[in-house]
This record gives sequence, structure tokens and C-alpha cells, in this order.
Amino acid sequence: MSRKVRGIARDTLKFILEASRSSLPAEFAGLLQVENEIITEVLILPGTENSRMSALIRLYMLPNMQVAGSAHSHPSGVLRPSEPDIQFFSRTGDYHIIVGPPFDEHSWVCFDATGDRRDLAILDVEFKDDDFEGDDFEDDLDEDFS
Ligand SMILES: [Zn+2]
Repeated sequence: MSRKVRGIARDTLKFILEASRSSLPAEFAGLLQVENEIITEVLILPGTENSRMSALIRLYMLPNMQVAGSAHSHPSGVLRPSEPDIQFFSRTGDYHIIVGPPFDEHSWVCFDATGDRRDLAILDVEFKDDDFEGDDFEDDLDEDFS
């Protein structure tokens, strides 16, 4: 399975960093989901490094579960995957972000499924509230004002 990923939305990365900071002293973990080739969604994963696999197995029971990768924090600030991390990475996609203090835009690293560093672009994406306003709705509006 190869899913094309162009990068991560800046707001999504910020969310991961902020969630990681506010989770201290506990670790934050989430799964990354892609829309239009960009990582825009974080599904928060309960549990710690040791209990993460069982949480993951439960999540995979969900239908239509597609995961591009994962993100989690290392409060220690050591931005390297542990052995359990690498086992986890190998089952959850190709893009794995580890963040640490001070949780700014430079305090994160992305790894591939084997734990090697890889590049991940930060993209400025406009989030549109188009989930509830389909094209039909906008067309109606245009007509009303013309
Ligand atoms: Zn870890």
C-alpha cells in the first residue's frame, strides 16, 4: 500500500505540538490521516508507549481505518524512536513524527516505517468548512445575491 503524501498541514503540526505540551508529563500519541495527499487529521490514541499496541489493535477493528502514520511525544526530548516505537511504526504507515520540548516548529522529527529519518514538508493549507456546505448550497447563495 503506497499512499502519496505531499506533507503535513501547518495547523495539524501545531495541534500535535500543542497537544503534546498540554499532555505533559504524560506522552501524547495519535494516528495521522491524509486528505488530498496532505496530513490533516490526528486521531488521538490513548495509552502510553507500552500500551499503544493494544489501543492500535482496537482501532483497526474500526471500518475504513486508513492511517498514513503516527505522531507522539517524547517528554524526555530524545527525538529518536524506541524499540516499541519501531514495532509500532512498521504497522501504521510511512510517516511517523516524534516531538519533544520545547514543542515549537523545530522540535520534531519525521521517520519512516523502519525508523529512518525522512523529510516531511510543512504546508500552508486553508481549512474550509465545506463539510456542511456543499456546492449546491453555495450555488443557491450565488443565485440569491445575483
Ligand atoms: Zn516513542
